[in-house]
Amino acid sequence: MDVLAGVRPAVKKRLATLGLRTIGDLLRYRPRRYESAAPERRIADLFGDEDVAIAGEILSVSERRRGRLKILTARVADGSGTISATWFNQPWLTRQLQPGRHVRLRGRPGRYGFDVKSFDLNGVVATADFAPVYPASEEVTPKKLREVVGQALVHARDLPDPLPAELKQREGLPLRADALWALHRPRSEREAEQGRRRLAFDELLALQLGLLRRRRGEEDAVAPALDAPEELVGRYREALPFELTPDQEGAITEIDADLGRTAPMQRLLQGDVGSGKTVVALYALLRAVEAGYRGALMAPTETLAEQHFLTIEELCRRIGVSVGLLTSSVPKGQRDTGASILVGTHALIQEGIDLSNVAVAVIDEQHRFGVEQRKALAEGRVAHTLHMTATPIPRTLALTVYGDLAVSEITHPPAGRKPVVTSWVGQEKSPEAYRRMRSHLEAGRQAFVICPLIAESETIEARAAEEEAERLRRAELHGLRVGCLHGKLPPRERRELMGRFKVRELDVLVATTVIEVGVDVPNATIMIVQEADRFGLAQLHQLRGRVGRGSEQSYCLLVSRAKDELTDSARARLDALVRTTDGFELAEADLEIRGEGQLLGTRQSGFSDLAFTKLRADRALLERARAAAAGLLDHEGPLDDEVERMFHDADVAA
Ligand code: ADP
Ligand code: MG
Repeated sequence: MDVLAGVRPAVKKRLATLGLRTIGDLLRYRPRRYESAAPERRIADLFGDEDVAIAGEILSVSERRRGRLKILTARVADGSGTISATWFNQPWLTRQLQPGRHVRLRGRPGRYGFDVKSFDLNGVVATADFAPVYPASEEVTPKKLREVVGQALVHARDLPDPLPAELKQREGLPLRADALWALHRPRSEREAEQGRRRLAFDELLALQLGLLRRRRGEEDAVAPALDAPEELVGRYREALPFELTPDQEGAITEIDADLGRTAPMQRLLQGDVGSGKTVVALYALLRAVEAGYRGALMAPTETLAEQHFLTIEELCRRIGVSVGLLTSSVPKGQRDTGASILVGTHALIQEGIDLSNVAVAVIDEQHRFGVEQRKALAEGRVAHTLHMTATPIPRTLALTVYGDLAVSEITHPPAGRKPVVTSWVGQEKSPEAYRRMRSHLEAGRQAFVICPLIAESETIEARAAEEEAERLRRAELHGLRVGCLHGKLPPRERRELMGRFKVRELDVLVATTVIEVGVDVPNATIMIVQEADRFGLAQLHQLRGRVGRGSEQSYCLLVSRAKDELTDSARARLDALVRTTDGFELAEADLEIRGEGQLLGTRQSGFSDLAFTKLRADRALLERARAAAAGLLDHEGPLDDEVERMFHDADVAA
């Protein structure tokens, strides 16, 4: 940035707070939006209050105050007439607005003459049609950003174009430098969009290429090819108290095909909460067992591992397959490391066990694109691996982030299950919500109350949950058997509590989000979420999935602060939950509410943000980038720098 005139060290420092350190950073700084086009008018023709531009000579400048408002006025003449142009609270401009200077102004006729929104003393930049408006900060004004980006733009042609010429031609894409000019100095919205798409193509290509190259390093990996399904999985099917759904059968067919090959399976099993993924996952594990190998299921938390263990062990006992639980709370001496199926946390299974005999690994992942999952992806590469995600990801996002990971989807829940009826009420209606809960309990059902989210620490959260449970025991839930579940409970107590809830020794479970995933009690038919506005959409959807697991109609009551006190996005989240129970639809809504930037944020995904891609709109562009990446595996050139930049923050390097 040192070559840019007028970027003093102090300015550089302030730019750095926005992550802008190099000319390349400036060139890639995407405008948040563009000004609209404003016609240029003669001063004599000014009329109404539309946005217009005028140009003329400054005759005089004066300042005055009106209360706390500082008003700066310049008399400007253009030959047709004269007008008073006004700026508010920017007294320092007197130095620039000298009489005799030519000025171009953008704004609209107002109470004090002409309200100035932006102006240019040299050329047409800030007042241009479609002038870029950059995400600014307290320290760096939009005007300053326009100025330094403009300076950087002069150097755009000196930087290498990462796309091979032949590819550019085939895809009909503009030169990189032209795209950058179009991005920062568009002559129309359409031109700006063309520039953006070229830059989006670049980053999608770099992402896909990085993913492909990473996978190529694993091509030599070999997993045992399993024979066709046999007697054990046959017995398993018979032991299940229900028929598998067509979606489950579809996923099983895809998994069977993968397992028959020596290339390790890398498959993502997507399905909504309660859609029946675990049943499919256990099938895959049993396929390993019947072929003489072992299976391992890894969960991100102890609670989840325990839940899986309980579900799986019950089924496996009926067909004579041993299951071992491996969590740090199971004493070393009591760990059944020799069991046919191992269930545990990622960490423990990975460090504690000889995995060479494990042919199928199932990785259960509650957090999207978590660091853990990426590590597991890298480390568990020898065994056939099935990744389960309970939070559906829009397909575009899955493709973007996982590259060529195969995807199986369970979109329809088992038949006979009724979608959970969700309502959303303000705090004042909370007593009514509890009355409804009581009537369910009196009819022999069970219930959950989810405690307000307190993020500071697990200890504080635990205390808040205990207090709330105590309060409810005395008030709304008086006379009922109320248990309290939180993350600070020793695992043994937690297990015991869950067990008691399962056999209906407890009516209500007051819980923090530790029950988010894995709890499976079909008799629980109603849930109250307190302060629901403080939870994320995905999290609320997960929580809601704890009810509606039996054939009874279930209910989820979201209680929030008064509706008009909420932010727009909180309202949008809760509205979406009331509107639909479809996880894929909710994932799309989440994408819309939060924007792709946040969903793919560095922290969560391990990738740099996609700055130019609009995931929903750019689906076709993504497919093109994927196809192009396949032909560029061995390409060397400036594109490699893009790949490196894209994977710079990733914990698994390309
Ligand atoms: P997920 O892991 O996707 O959240 P689970 O596999 O835990 O879902 O299944 C949720 C509930 O649905 C369990 O009680 C399970 O026994 C039941 N279930 C699974 N598959 C079927 C099916 N095909 N028909 C009826 N019930 C099913
Ligand atoms: Mg499950």
